[in-house]
Formats: sequence, structure tokens, C-alpha cells
Amino acid sequence: MTTTTPATLTRSTEQLRRRAHDALRTCGVDTTTLPGADRIDVRTPLTGGTVATLAAIGPGEVEAAIEQAHQAFLAWRSVPAPVRGQLVKRLGELLSEHKEHLADLIGVEVGKIASEALGEVQEMIDICDYAVGLSRQLEGRTMPSERPGHRLMETWHPLGVVAVISAFNFPAAVWAWNTAVALVCGDTVVWKPSEKTPLVALASAALLQRAARELHAPEHLNTVVVTDATGAAPLIDSPLVPLVSATGSERLGAQIAPRIAARFGRAILELGGNNAAVVTPSADLDLAVRGIVFAAAGTAGQRCTTLRRLIVHESVTDEVVTRVAAAYRGLQVGDPFEAGTLVGPLFGAAAHQAVQDALTEAVAAGGTLVAGGERVDVGHDDAYYVRPALVTMPAQADVVQRETFGPVLYVLTYRELDDAIALHNGVPQGLSSAIFTQDQREAEVFLSAEGSDCGIVNVNIGTSGAEIGGAFGGEKTTGGGRESGSDAWRAYMRRATNTVNYSRELPLAQGVSFA
Ligand code: NAD
Repeated sequence: MTTTTPATLTRSTEQLRRRAHDALRTCGVDTTTLPGADRIDVRTPLTGGTVATLAAIGPGEVEAAIEQAHQAFLAWRSVPAPVRGQLVKRLGELLSEHKEHLADLIGVEVGKIASEALGEVQEMIDICDYAVGLSRQLEGRTMPSERPGHRLMETWHPLGVVAVISAFNFPAAVWAWNTAVALVCGDTVVWKPSEKTPLVALASAALLQRAARELHAPEHLNTVVVTDATGAAPLIDSPLVPLVSATGSERLGAQIAPRIAARFGRAILELGGNNAAVVTPSADLDLAVRGIVFAAAGTAGQRCTTLRRLIVHESVTDEVVTRVAAAYRGLQVGDPFEAGTLVGPLFGAAAHQAVQDALTEAVAAGGTLVAGGERVDVGHDDAYYVRPALVTMPAQADVVQRETFGPVLYVLTYRELDDAIALHNGVPQGLSSAIFTQDQREAEVFLSAEGSDCGIVNVNIGTSGAEIGGAFGGEKTTGGGRESGSDAWRAYMRRATNTVNYSRELPLAQGVSFA
């Protein structure tokens, strides 16, 4: 692909390093203690340069962190849930106070544009609000007993240590979704952030630690472990970890799910997506194009919910392709801290290579590259910026079935809605989906059991940008997990069914007699 030079990135790695360390210090992280023997270099995708060097820990230290978290759980589970909620309330206040510092760290580490980085922190604040309310609503049911003088009910109890494993592209919000809920449920957390983006993790954890100190909560309610997949092994295998909530690639899920199942642990798996939108003849195309461009090009195509496939009715395909391509040409690609930039960098050389390989494969399969795909030169050899790519495909192809974690949008054409739904569901993943239509019948079919097979099914909005109030997650190789709102909290607790006999008799269920 050719390279274009719209602008040189004036920001240096040294400036970004200072910005990150200032934000860390303000959030209470002592940056003088960061370097260590077994080192992890944290690089910024903006320039490709190193902005911090951290000590990495091994499996022994992770095991010790689990043991401490277990001890903390033994105390925390007895604290009344509404009192636990007060800790999360204070965390939310501190996150609000430090919103810009945390967003700065996300900007430096991940390369999100300012508005999206702030949005990620807002999501953390929102889930804290939600969890505070939840702390008074961890309710069980009572059911009528078939026996006189008996009461049947269920109670929900804390589970234990929750391992949170998070991906680079949501380096803080995923932790908050899990941790705000886990803490009010009475659990404790050991968090393994992506080793590529540990700085905002350290800052977020420092804020929680400050809240815990202020409220005299037990120590070790939440511990960050900066380590790689090898170091993380105890999080997957330890019997002291009843729940593993893991966010990442389908490969991650395939590696850890059998190990967790082998010890009868629980898993919340939030894995890769290959999300699609159907555009029907009745769609409001002004609205659809705006929704498509944000969902496909936003976050440089590096969201799990990024729109990767567009399934367009043949009568509007030309117009949709022309309008999306025109919008793509107008997107400002470059420095994510610069006002007006809508597409920041890809996360390093491997991500860029994956995008180029996918485009080559798509063209070899008969696809046509309509717009984008070229690298944008910002004056740093180790920084990878690309223009979002739009590719029309003559038919389903292997490359369309995979998640390529970058801004590549494939366009497929359909004639009948049933065919569109078959194309839509004909991939291994099942995270997020959308239909753009003004025909209520089409919308309802897409939402029905015969429609989209995803965990998130939208009408007239794109595939990305979920709110915390709903349960978030997907089906098939996306892993089946649900976290955040609705009744996702139940996964963080154990249910006990209780039968209480307040009579003077001992009738047996089902009329059984034993005398
Ligand atoms: P990744 O799978 O490379 O890594 C994710 C995390 O898992 C990291 O912390 C990594 O160190 C850890 N990890 C990897 N192998 C492990 C193992 N064997 N044992 C323990 N830990 C292990 O993913 P990534 O490149 O950081 O993130 C991008 C991927 O994450 C994409 O596929 C994206 O769709 C997915 N994602 C999914 C969601 C969702 O909610 N469904 C959200 C964000 C990202």
C-alpha cells in the first residue's frame, strides 16, 4: 500500500513520557519505583517510543497476590453490601476527579482520541454509580412452598477472588465493569491488565487503594499484577479463584477455557467479535452512514464491537459505498491528542501487518479496495497510522470470517432479508450487530429468534458504544460471558436455595412418606 503524509506528529516520545508520568503521580503512583529487574517496556503507539519501564512479576508472586486477596475476601464478605457500596461510591468520585489524568494515560498507552479516552473513563464512573445502587438490590426470590408451614427462598452470597484479565484496547473500563460489581457483591479482585497497557491500570488501582484507605476497608481488595501469560497461570489454575473474567482474543479463550473448566471454575469470557450491520432499502442513509463510520473507523477499528462487515441491500449498495468512502476520505488521521483527529494510531507493527495481510487476502479473494488502507507517515518509523479501509466483496470469503483488529470494513450485498441474516450469522463470532431500517417488520425479524445471533442487537445505531446499564457480551466464539449491567452481577455471586420449616410437622416434598 502507498504511504501518505498529511501531517508530522510534533509530539515527541519524551513529551508523552512526561505526560504519562505526571498523570501517574497525580493519581498516586510512585513512578520512581516502577523500574525493576524483570522489565516490561511500555510503548506508546503514537511514536512507537518507550514511555515507562516496569517490573514484571512471575507466577510465585501472582500466587501470593491470590492468597492475600483470599484473606481479604474472608473479611470483606461480612461487610454489609450497602457499606461495600460506599467504597465504590468513593472510587467513582476519585475517578471523576482524575478523569483527565486517566484519559491522558489511555491516550498515551492506547492512542485513543481524547473524546474516546474520556468516554472510557466516563464508563468507569457510570458503572460505579450503577454498582452503588446495586449494593442495595442484590435480591433473591421467595417462592411458594408446596408444604404447609414452609418457606422457600434464595439468597446470594459473595463468591471469592475474581481474576480480571483485560485487553489492551479497553485498558481500564473492563476492570471497572468487573471490579465495581465484584466489590459490592463482596468479592475481591486480582487484576492482570494487558502487559502492553499497565499504566492506567496502576493509576486506577491507586485510586481504589486511596478510597479503601479513607474508608478503612480491608487491604488487598484489589491487586494489580503486571505479568505476561506465563506469570498469569495461577489466575487460571488456582482453586482459590472461583471466577475468571477474561477479555481478549478468541485465542485467549481457547487457551484458558478448558483449564478453568477442568477445575470446575467459572469463567466470564469476553472475546473477539466480527460485527456486522445490515442496511435495508428503507434505511435512513444519512443516519446509517454516520453510524457506520463511527462504528467502523472509531478507535482505529480497535474495539471488540467495531463494525467489520456491512451487508447492504443491492438497491442501495452503490450509494452506501460512495457515501461511506467519501466520509472515510474526510477523516483526520494522526495525533490523537490533536483537536479534529478522529483516527489515531494502530497498536504497533503487528496490528499494521495484520491489516495489510487482510487487505491483500481480500483482494486475492476478488474484493475491491474502494478507499483507505494506506499507511499515513507521521515521521516516526515505529508508529503505524492507517486510513480506514473499505473493501467491497463479491461473496463470503475466509478473511471476512475472521476478526482483523484494525479499521477494515468489508461490504457484502444481499437481495432478500433472509439471505442478509444468513450472511450476518455465518461467522464464528457473535458479539454485536445492527440493522438500519425504517421498516418495523424488518427490525422485529432481526431482533427475533430467527434474526441476529449476537449478544448485542441494535436497531438504527452502530455496533459499538454500548451503555453500562445492559449486560455486555456475545455468543459463539465470543465466549458467552456477560458483564456490566442488568443481572450480570449474578455471575459474581453464588446462589443458595433455602427451605425453612416453621411448622411442627415434617412433611416431605412430592408427598414422599418415610415411615
Ligand atoms: P489478547 O488475547 O492478546 O490479550 C488479552 C489479555 O489476555 C492480555 O492481558 C494478555 O496478557 C492475556 N493473555 C493472553 N494469553 C493468556 C493466557 N494464556 N493466560 C492468561 N492470560 C493471557 O488480546 P489483545 O490483543 O490485548 O486485545 C484485543 C482482543 O480482545 C480482540 O480480539 C478484541 O476483540 C478482544 N476484546 C474483546 C472484548 C469483549 O468484551 N468481547 C473487549 C475488548 C477486547
